Amino acid sequence: MRSEGIIAMSYLKQFPEIENEIIKCIKCGNCQAVCPLYQETKTEDMVARGKVHLAAAVLKGVLKPTKDLTRIFTTCLICKACAGSCPSGVAPDKIVLAARVMLAKERSLPLAKKLLFKCLAQPTLFKAGMAIGAKTQDLFFKRSEDSMNIRYPVSGLELRRVMPVLADKPFLLNLPAINKVTDPRSKVAFFSGCTTNFIYPNTGQAFLTVMAHNNIEVVVPKKQHCCGTPVLLHGDTATTMDIAKSQVAIFSQCDVDALVTVCGTCGEAFKKHYPELLKDVPEYSEKAAILAKKVYDFSQLLVNLQPLNKENLGVVNKTVTYHQPCHVGRGIGAVQEPLKIIKTIPGLKFNPLKQPNRCCGGAGSFSLTHYDLSYKILKRKLADIASTTAATVITACGSCRMQLSDGLAQEKMSQPVRHLVELLAESYQNFHDDL
Ligand code: SF4
Ligand code: SF4
Repeated sequence: MRSEGIIAMSYLKQFPEIENEIIKCIKCGNCQAVCPLYQETKTEDMVARGKVHLAAAVLKGVLKPTKDLTRIFTTCLICKACAGSCPSGVAPDKIVLAARVMLAKERSLPLAKKLLFKCLAQPTLFKAGMAIGAKTQDLFFKRSEDSMNIRYPVSGLELRRVMPVLADKPFLLNLPAINKVTDPRSKVAFFSGCTTNFIYPNTGQAFLTVMAHNNIEVVVPKKQHCCGTPVLLHGDTATTMDIAKSQVAIFSQCDVDALVTVCGTCGEAFKKHYPELLKDVPEYSEKAAILAKKVYDFSQLLVNLQPLNKENLGVVNKTVTYHQPCHVGRGIGAVQEPLKIIKTIPGLKFNPLKQPNRCCGGAGSFSLTHYDLSYKILKRKLADIASTTAATVITACGSCRMQLSDGLAQEKMSQPVRHLVELLAESYQNFHDDL
């Protein structure tokens, strides 16, 4: 039998930096005002302050890892709103993650998740699974235009949830490895991410259109695969390290000025998670650190590194609002850049949200596993959207797009949700159509 002392010894030793984070918390409770979960539940175990102190007890071995503790630590959006408003500079998301790692080791993840994560780490298997999914999705889902509902009850899945359709053909399939332009001013590598590759290939195509209009050559390594963030957020660091090594090996071979993403979660994996996970692995640590310095959201690339070509922008007659994805804003720091791009597009009327950076409640699989709670958070975002009277919702993350699309469909709101890069590509396209 494992004693509490052994748990304490092993886990605090494994997370020395987390112990330092925990000590910084002064229990002021400022995080209550910004935590979307606390605002819905009003319970201390849902907010950062409660979680920080529970994590301390679990990691010290004062509390044994139980099913209830697993429930508490899996109920967090990792939206980082608490970290952004903490006067002591605590990073509660990192503490929650450490607790998840410990709980995954002590209590083991459900078999279905373990199998899914192993599959995510095997790109060939994952791609084959997605190809089968795309061919057979009509057997399990009822389609209506570009979305669908599950046909049969599945434990843990909400029947009314509107899901996106898997693309017939992944974005990366048959795409040239180098997308050349005449007289390039820069050369970048593109990491598409799973939602762009398998669900929203138009986002990837729009990215290439925008790069071509900006004279930027795009290298698209064909072996790229899932960034591993869903695996990491469940506490499976061993599988995430395998994924990180593979991605670092693939992208280190590209001789490029920048590594560009259209998803903050993927960007954060390269910018923050991989260097941290691989810092003690000699073969990969330096390469991961070099790559991390080259990571840009597409908006950061076009505002900070290679200024946007404004000559060929055409009019887009739309009223839009913008939802800032947590991992784009607080994750990789693209806050002003998307707004600058929106304000550059001719004809666009921008009606901002009152709380653009408030989490939409999607948080990857959180919206699947905690539908009702996730929906309460989403409803506040939908009310904010409605108050803007915008006809189109713009965001910069596939996962937020899925969540917002579900909410808008549930509330019978007609606004389409689009990725910002698609709007920019439309502007370039309109310039040519108007000639
Ligand atoms: S996590 Fe930060 S904001 Fe929350 S109670 Fe601790 S010190 Fe205060
Ligand atoms: S990461 Fe988000 S959901 Fe989790 S405790 Fe912090 S504010 Fe609340």
